[in-house]
Amino acid sequence: MTIQEKIAEITKEINSLTQPENQERLEELRLKYLSKKGALNDVIKDFKEVPKESKRELGMQVNELKTLVMTRIEHFKHQLEQNSRSSELDAMDLTRTPYPLPLGSRHPLNIVRDQIISIFARLGFNIAEGPEIEDDWHVFESLNFAPDHPARDMQDTFFVSHSPDILLRTHTSSVQTRIMEEQEPPIRIICPGRVYRNESISARAHCFFHQVEALYIAEHVTFQDLRQVLLHFAQQMFGPDTKIRLRPSYFPFTEPSAEMDISCNICGGEGCSFCKHTGWVEILGCGMVDRNVLEACGIDCEKYSGYALGMGIERITNLKYSVNDLRLFSENDIRFLEQFKSVR
Ligand SMILES: [Zn+2]
Repeated sequence: MTIQEKIAEITKEINSLTQPENQERLEELRLKYLSKKGALNDVIKDFKEVPKESKRELGMQVNELKTLVMTRIEHFKHQLEQNSRSSELDAMDLTRTPYPLPLGSRHPLNIVRDQIISIFARLGFNIAEGPEIEDDWHVFESLNFAPDHPARDMQDTFFVSHSPDILLRTHTSSVQTRIMEEQEPPIRIICPGRVYRNESISARAHCFFHQVEALYIAEHVTFQDLRQVLLHFAQQMFGPDTKIRLRPSYFPFTEPSAEMDISCNICGGEGCSFCKHTGWVEILGCGMVDRNVLEACGIDCEKYSGYALGMGIERITNLKYSVNDLRLFSENDIRFLEQFKSVR
């Protein structure tokens, strides 16, 4: 068979090929035409023997044949891939309901902190933050703590180093000091944050917990202003029927100082085991900022006065959601945390 006859025959064969039904059949075709011992190489071998004067014309024909074979086989391959992809799609049920995405829940302390912040934010209080590792001045000295105050003892406070005393803040009042040092009155801030005390961990005490404190300093601020804000806060937080009661107390940084009770929201003031049958539950401490504190922070106490109040976020959360063990807040038990899924 001459080379021309071979080219004609292969061309005819290739043109009459139909789409192979699977990969194996395609591979057979590839081997038959394109492998080392395949038909195309056979033609190329013959071509080497062709006399010089015919090489130009025949060369073109060989090249055309090569292109034809390769294009055809490539086309079959592409077609097979397309078919397998569309059969995969056919196997998928696009009308099936999707798997539900698991929804997380917010931590109860964050929920309550944000509620407290939003009540005070609507009254014009701005959020202020400060460091958790503090010096003695901002935590104790500026806030009128006597040198022998028990909070300055290692039994009650975590010290990072001594002389100079660096410690983990025991209250967020240190943020108030920092703001009073930096800003001129009027000052209206709310300071949420984590605080630390050297206590053994139990259902009722923990070595860290969270506070929110509020501070308002301006001209002519009176105890009556404080009382009004407290009543507003209690009713926003615990419901419009909530009553408040102030009892005299003592804090180094306020004078006069008070503790605030709210009417028990479990028994409505009738008396129950939760409120120890008094009808009242203690929720926060407050008072007028002590003149010594104002002076220590460089604020003119003849011109300005102010009030401060502070509460534990855990305490408020316990009251709102009847949680009776502080440890639940930091154990990350999903059974506990999941119960707050519906709360925004
Ligand atoms: Zn009660």
